[in-house]
Amino acid sequence: MTQRSWAGSDRRGRLPDNWRQLRQAVFARDGWQCVMRAPSGQRCPRPAQECDHITPGDDHSMSNLRSLCTLHHASITGAQGGRRVHKRARMAHPLKRKPEKHPGDPG
Ligand SMILES: [Zn+2]
Repeated sequence: MTQRSWAGSDRRGRLPDNWRQLRQAVFARDGWQCVMRAPSGQRCPRPAQECDHITPGDDHSMSNLRSLCTLHHASITGAQGGRRVHKRARMAHPLKRKPEKHPGDPG
């Protein structure tokens, strides 16, 4: 997998080719509803409209994705400090640190 079709669009980091399908699958799993909960434990009643990475980065597996409404998504991505979320400055987990370039990546 050394496709670079996403190289031009850095807005959301690198998304997989099947992102749309993945997103639909995450929404379906979560019942097409935002998964955030109020302190009282009540689930957010708004419909799922954004697919959010729980841990920002390149992990696009279902377990790292969740459905959010636009409001919660905006508040969370805003709280992460803006546009360069995929830089994962706050998530410097020693075991998960990877070099920027893949070994097999020419150039
Ligand atoms: Zn919500």
